[in-house]
Amino acid sequence: MQVNLLPGQELAKELIQLKVGGRKALSTILAERLPRRLAQDGFEPLTGHPAELGLSRIADFPDRVLQELSGRIQSWTMTPSGSEGWRKAEVMRGGVSTRELDPRTMESRRIPGLHFIGEVVDVTGWLGGYNFQWAWSSGTVCARAMTELGA
Ligand SMILES: Cc1cc2nc3c(=O)[nH]c(=O)nc-3n(C[C@H](O)[C@H](O)[C@H](O)COP(=O)(O)OP(=O)(O)OC[C@H]3O[C@@H](n4cnc5c(N)ncnc54)[C@H](O)[C@@H]3O)c2cc1C
Repeated sequence: MQVNLLPGQELAKELIQLKVGGRKALSTILAERLPRRLAQDGFEPLTGHPAELGLSRIADFPDRVLQELSGRIQSWTMTPSGSEGWRKAEVMRGGVSTRELDPRTMESRRIPGLHFIGEVVDVTGWLGGYNFQWAWSSGTVCARAMTELGA
């Protein structure tokens, strides 16, 4: 994953400009733009030069280091070590294809009288309620259709 921690900014250019007469520590300048703990303790993952960056005034840094630092902040690369697995899984991809179902009733187009709703259908939403909504909505549509049919 690549994350731009300071989108829309020309960070390298700004830092190099701040070098002129710059007495502030680089970590202080970064803490004005990033969460303080990340700015002060996060140098190692960002730059690989923790002591050098944490202790020095911005004016002491070569442009090259500031450019490298900016690149890392604006293109912070992380490799996820894995997923949390089934224990934490919250939604399932795949299932009965929506093409196989009548959306007005959720009834199978192949086998009349057989209905599918919710998680078992191949509809996957972002977390945050969309899957619940799908389960309730498809269930409602199906129940109404069955009631009308007197099923
Ligand atoms: C930990 C977790 C967190 C989640 N958080 C969210 C969220 O924040 N927002 C969101 O939108 N979605 C969330 N989801 C997904 C959401 O819960 C499901 O998409 C939704 O509940 C699916 O509803 P459903 O009725 O289709 O299936 P289910 O809720 O799975 O209901 C199926 C029911 O059938 C029963 N059953 C199974 N086999 C049989 C059988 N042979 N005989 C009789 N009964 C049987 C089961 O016991 C179960 O009660 C989460 C899921 C999990 C696991």
